[in-house]
Amino acid sequence: MRRFFVAGNWKMNTLSRSAAELAGAVARAVPAALPTVQVAVCPPFPSLTAVASAVAGSGAELGAQNASPEKPGAFTGEVAVEMLLDVGCRWVILGHSERRLILGETDDSICRKVRAAVSQQLGVILCVGETLSQRQSGQTEAVLDGQMQGSLAEVDERAFARIVIAYEPVWAIGTGVTATTEQAESAHSHLRNWLAARYNPRIAAETRILYGGSVKPQNARSLLEQPDVDGALVGGASLKTDDFLPIIRAAENIHKG
Ligand code: PEP
Repeated sequence: MRRFFVAGNWKMNTLSRSAAELAGAVARAVPAALPTVQVAVCPPFPSLTAVASAVAGSGAELGAQNASPEKPGAFTGEVAVEMLLDVGCRWVILGHSERRLILGETDDSICRKVRAAVSQQLGVILCVGETLSQRQSGQTEAVLDGQMQGSLAEVDERAFARIVIAYEPVWAIGTGVTATTEQAESAHSHLRNWLAARYNPRIAAETRILYGGSVKPQNARSLLEQPDVDGALVGGASLKTDDFLPIIRAAENIHKG
């Protein structure tokens, strides 16, 4: 059984005070680890320490939104994996489409970050997903295969103890347009088959694949009920407890056989 994972990607939102308030509300709602749902919040770098204090001792874990592939040193503006661990991060989101498309990250650079994170036991939420034009031209599966291959090059199966995949169709991120349950399940099952072929059936069966893209309380349940959907990476809705907490509750109320 794969434990659900619901993670909030706060993107470039919140100041330290609002971040601590939001994290505090999540921590109060999830005072201890939930048996069937892992929960994480991923604030911007400057709020990591405030959020770490707010979630300390609760069932909510801390994640970052990026990491340098380099060891600490002369890399102005970068943040090393060691620094994320030092402030209590258990997770880092890597390969988000906003970083791929706006900030020019490539599969190669993402792969170096994945390797740096897992080599130090920092969990990775690795995002993959196609654009609208790629979907419309029938390239979805080829794009996913290329991103998985490139971002996981030379990443061996032991690393999968700490890797979660997030399928995030770019056309669904922040748009209010959500993938249908059929589109989501089809992409997730394709990714799971990719893991079985590239690694082995055990890795495929154990690795969690989250869906991300306009997840809201209204659509969470039907998405999370899909056999290969193991949780959600939530952007906009993670900034409001009235939206984020019901998504966690939706996961808690699903029991897959
Ligand atoms: C995201 O940025 O990872 C995301 C899924 O955003 P939203 O939920 O706002 O579409």
